[in-house]
Amino acid sequence: MNKKIWLSSPNMGGKEQVYVKEAFETNWIAPLGPHVNNFEKDICNYTGAKHCAALSSGTSAIHLALILLGVKSGDEVLCSTFTFSATVNPIIYQGATPIFIDSEDETWNMSPILLEEAIIDRIKLGKKPKAILLVHLYGIAAKMEEITEIASKYDIPLIEDAAEALGSTYKGKALGTFGVMGVFSFNGNKIITTSGGGALVSDDEDLIKEARFLATQARDNAPHYQHSQIGYNYRMSNICAGIGRGQMEVLNERVAQKRKIRTFYKDLFENIEGINILEEDKNISFSNAWLTCILIDKVKMGFDREDLRLELEKDNIEARPLWKPMHLQPIFEKYPAYTDETSERLFDIGLCLPSDSNIDKEDIRRIEKSIKNKLV
Ligand SMILES: *Cc1c(COP(=O)(O)O)cnc(C)c1O
Repeated sequence: MNKKIWLSSPNMGGKEQVYVKEAFETNWIAPLGPHVNNFEKDICNYTGAKHCAALSSGTSAIHLALILLGVKSGDEVLCSTFTFSATVNPIIYQGATPIFIDSEDETWNMSPILLEEAIIDRIKLGKKPKAILLVHLYGIAAKMEEITEIASKYDIPLIEDAAEALGSTYKGKALGTFGVMGVFSFNGNKIITTSGGGALVSDDEDLIKEARFLATQARDNAPHYQHSQIGYNYRMSNICAGIGRGQMEVLNERVAQKRKIRTFYKDLFENIEGINILEEDKNISFSNAWLTCILIDKVKMGFDREDLRLELEKDNIEARPLWKPMHLQPIFEKYPAYTDETSERLFDIGLCLPSDSNIDKEDIRRIEKSIKNKLV
């Protein structure tokens, strides 16, 4: 069996172990410490966000963002349907109701038209949504000008789930820094990883201070352990933050590698009419190209996304269908959804291709060979 080629796997830069060793040598083996503080600074410097809290996961960052906006039982939160379940779960943790919004087909992200339609409808039904939870899928910026305009027109706070979009920008500004709060993930498959981890960013210092407070069990300022709020154990460990500091040093290199992989696929599918690659509008945005995604026209190609996925799997190469929309998931299908079938269609015909920054020339050759088996 040939060695496995992954969709996206951890790729260490080299300095991570130096930072981790330093944590051991200074005995900062705790969910706080100098690496945590410095990792937060690194994220602020890179993204231009003013404040950052390093947390145990992207999911916990989304959860805290919702809590900080006062989302509670019975509230409604507008949410991209075309995403990973981790975006939605924290809405349910709060006892709130997700209102799913479908995608537009240029960026695959939340449709501004359906968003506004949903807001008008929810208000008419008697409840103004508490927040907009917007996802930048696969590192591609959503239509930020339209979305931020709608958010301010109706005065609804915007949270950006930029878990897949660290390193991407819109009009030169980092994704994750447009909303009241932004979320990043450092899970193992993301563009950089801390093994597991996440971050919440904001320009509002009070929000980030409150996030740190809630993430460390909401301990009041007293010599004994006193609590007047429910807390969480959501802080990032100093060991993980050490890995993160090393990873931040190679983030731009990883983005360049991912974009190079996307260019390889672009060349491979050039002049093939039935296959389209997802790309950003280069006039207004820049993508980290976390995963290269394609749409396959079965009529033109004579095969579908599952045929191609299985062809790659035969040679131990991982590919994966796009995210299955949340409004089609057994656990979430009961919630309201404003849809026009865009994400459903993307899910049916789309595939994520191996986009691992670790791949070498031989891996590329194998991927090319497998794909060409189908193209002929
Ligand atoms: C990975 C991911 C998350 C969750 O991040 P974790 O760090 O794994 O909790 C949330 N939203 C999206 C879109 C993701 O891809």
